[in-house]
Amino acid sequence: MVTSRQVRHHSSDQRLLILKEIYEVLGGADIATIEYEGPEIAVYVKNPKFILEHEDKVKELARKLRKRIVVRTHPKIRKSREYTAKFILEHAPPDSGIVDIQFDDVLGEVRVIAEKPGKILGKSKAFRNVVLAETGWRLEVYRKPLLRSGILDTVLRHLQRHSEEIRKARREIGERIFREMLVGTRHVRVVGLGSFGEVGRSCILVDTGESRVLLDVGLSPSGYGPNAYPYLWAPEFRVEELDAVVISHAHMDHVGLLPLLFKFGFRGPVYVTPPTRDIMIIVLKDLINLARREGVEPPFDFSDVEMALTRVIPVSYNVVTDVAPDIKLTFTNAGHILGSAMVHLHIGQGMFNLLYTADFKFYRIKNDRSTRLLPPADYQFHRVEALIMEATYGAKDTPPREKAEEELIHLVNDVAKKGGKLLIPVMAVGRGQEILLVLNEAIKNGKIPEIPIYVDGMVYEVTAVYTNYPELLVKPIRDRMLHQGENPFEGPSTVYVTDYSKRDEALNIGGPAVIIATSGMMNGGPIVEYFKYMAGDERNALVFVSYQAPGTLGRRIQSGEREVELRFDGEIRRVKVKLRVETIEGFTGHSTRSELLSFLKRLRPKPRTVILNHGEPSALASLASTIKTSWQRLGFETPPLVEVPENLESLRLYPSNIKTKTALLYA
Ligand SMILES: [Zn+2]
Ligand SMILES: [Zn+2]
Repeated sequence: MVTSRQVRHHSSDQRLLILKEIYEVLGGADIATIEYEGPEIAVYVKNPKFILEHEDKVKELARKLRKRIVVRTHPKIRKSREYTAKFILEHAPPDSGIVDIQFDDVLGEVRVIAEKPGKILGKSKAFRNVVLAETGWRLEVYRKPLLRSGILDTVLRHLQRHSEEIRKARREIGERIFREMLVGTRHVRVVGLGSFGEVGRSCILVDTGESRVLLDVGLSPSGYGPNAYPYLWAPEFRVEELDAVVISHAHMDHVGLLPLLFKFGFRGPVYVTPPTRDIMIIVLKDLINLARREGVEPPFDFSDVEMALTRVIPVSYNVVTDVAPDIKLTFTNAGHILGSAMVHLHIGQGMFNLLYTADFKFYRIKNDRSTRLLPPADYQFHRVEALIMEATYGAKDTPPREKAEEELIHLVNDVAKKGGKLLIPVMAVGRGQEILLVLNEAIKNGKIPEIPIYVDGMVYEVTAVYTNYPELLVKPIRDRMLHQGENPFEGPSTVYVTDYSKRDEALNIGGPAVIIATSGMMNGGPIVEYFKYMAGDERNALVFVSYQAPGTLGRRIQSGEREVELRFDGEIRRVKVKLRVETIEGFTGHSTRSELLSFLKRLRPKPRTVILNHGEPSALASLASTIKTSWQRLGFETPPLVEVPENLESLRLYPSNIKTKTALLYA
């Protein structure tokens, strides 16, 4: 896999300059080694006290070099684990609720799991430097989840077990990022490999001549075969030439095929936000289990997921990160699900800036009492020449959120009065948590009776991840979690279905109940199990609260099929659909048509080119024509170039929309 491209580095001059700068500023810390750690430069020192005494020096260095710097220590000067653990317990605030302390010898990291991580780090994060100076260990603090969850353990165990391998991988990744440029930025080309003219299998290749970055690598919700895969066999796509993969969020149609790249031999970095890392582990493992349960051999294995995890580099919102010699990446909040990001690429020393919204929710904050979880998507950037925007709801508006909530509450009351059960298919990530929150609030406010709310499928694990990142949720919810010790996802009658006996209970309980289960489009998962046994009873109801893709069982029932074939222990039976079928729109995590337009209106600065994807053809066409005719109303000074490419089409992008003039810029 190592090619001649990879072994080139920063030109030796440039490299010397960086070293010289580091020695000049941090020399007093007695530097032992300097090495790349993915996009960061790790400086191993023997005198960490210097860092404590000159706290601003690291920042100054990072600013000067425009690189991210991480200070670690030489193993010889690290104090014993016992001493370090004792030091942390004695000096951390007593009410921080430390529950575990773990050590990573390779990186010299001490990982503390605490109920109140904010108390330990404090506002200045100075405690980290105190620990570094006194013990030689670099402190990392993790939040103890409010719900019992295995995911934090999985992540920490993975870091621990593959420590050596991760360090080695990051060194190689760093060498490649900071290599000497071979040809430089020649152009900016975008190749649609999936999600163009459709919803599903999101995948975009960005090529600059010098480097190649893949944005998302998703799987269509409608199946497993090659028709559900992005066009990875396109001639432009060569896995060994890929510099990086960037994943916008942990939905299947954006991350579902990531492990396949590793099966094909990819060993490069995967950039994600920290919550996306956690959620995608759950989603990808579940994909394998689900496929096998349905008798389908999944396209990849657990070992491919593990391999991907070893190459994951978590990057928080608004942190600028080098991902190739001529590309800097910044994630910003997309408001769609926890950890969802818009991807901003700064290409060729600012020659070109590309913004990929991926799935996003842009809305106006009306009141503090909304049961929304996430703040709306960001809309201000330094520069944007071209925009790739999703258009799932490009053709229509959905009713306002408040109305959707009212409708749901009304339906619950209706079904409860008849003694029936209400079945709600949800995606484990996003909608599941929103619906749960709405129902818990309604019970709390006496708007619906206190009937049991069963939650089945991956929703539980993912909800636990949500409780891990309160700082990313909207303020009212964050405050309840951080200051009132409340868990908004757990009401008085919430029952998390963690084994089959609970599922039987949900099916057989005499009175009314609500059942929230995956998958969101009914193509597998526990929802189908419930549906099989509930479909024949008129007192029951099924309500769709999210988009149903063509070809899925959900879409077929939604559009009126009253008899469907389902598998019962390997045997196919026809099931009559007698229960009431409803659709409530307005809970969507996507921007509606008017929200897409108001995002464009607010967006600063204005792009020259607008590319639409992630929508059915009619939605894309409708939105494109509105932008073309209403560009002035949307605040553009000149008409933008509006493109609706198909999969496999590629677009060459120009800094301006006047092609002939700007082509010269690259010459
Ligand atoms: Zn999504
Ligand atoms: Zn999507």
